[in-house]
Amino acid sequence: MPVDVRQFPCLDDNYGFLVRDQATGRTAVVDTPDAEAILRELKAAGWSLSMILNTHWHPDHAGGNARLKAETGCEIVGPAEVRRIAPLDREVGEGDEVMLGETRFRVLDTGGHTLGHVAYVDDADGVAFVGDTLFALGCGRLFEGEPQQMWSSLSKIAALPPETRVYCAHEYTASNARFALSVDPSPALRARADQVFSARQRGEPTVPTTIGAERDTNPFLRAPALKAAVGLGEGAPDWQAFAALRAAKDSFKG
Ligand SMILES: [Zn+2]
Repeated sequence: MPVDVRQFPCLDDNYGFLVRDQATGRTAVVDTPDAEAILRELKAAGWSLSMILNTHWHPDHAGGNARLKAETGCEIVGPAEVRRIAPLDREVGEGDEVMLGETRFRVLDTGGHTLGHVAYVDDADGVAFVGDTLFALGCGRLFEGEPQQMWSSLSKIAALPPETRVYCAHEYTASNARFALSVDPSPALRARADQVFSARQRGEPTVPTTIGAERDTNPFLRAPALKAAVGLGEGAPDWQAFAALRAAKDSFKG
């Protein structure tokens, strides 16, 4: 049986995600940006929390761990780096599997934004929780990792089937679209950017996205096709084009 995903905005621009295994009713929250908001959402849904799945250690992702553990007794699963700021019961990394009732999550090492960042992929349902690695039309900043590492992490996510629904942790899409338009003249991007701006004007979320949409229009995943746009020759390694795009985004004022 599939999973239900309940998405809700919290803090300034984070999304929280409750994931419920329909077969058993076991429920996880992906990251803990705001314990209060998560408890409220659980109550509204009538669900009880079995598990936290952390993607990385940043406070807007693991800051609610202690409170949620105290209130619900849930198990906390995540990369070892979470211990820098929060409790963690089970360390996971590349190749591990986490069962939520009958739902199987595959853990991908997606280091780069932080060194230990992980993503959780439910292949059976075509659902991926990618934290701050891939965003709609964007990607996470490199606070700890190197461009080559982040490029490898993004490539892993991009290799998932195109229909995979991608739940990223922030609503950054409109500003990502403005940067994307500055480096990529593709008509597909222009059309998507217009949709994004309209959706945001109506107050609608642009998350989840899909792997297919990101492969087609996300400038970071399109780095190999944008080498000339960042002043590189065709023979340059793909990760160098990614690094140049990431640096351009870091200083973009749009
Ligand atoms: Zn982060």
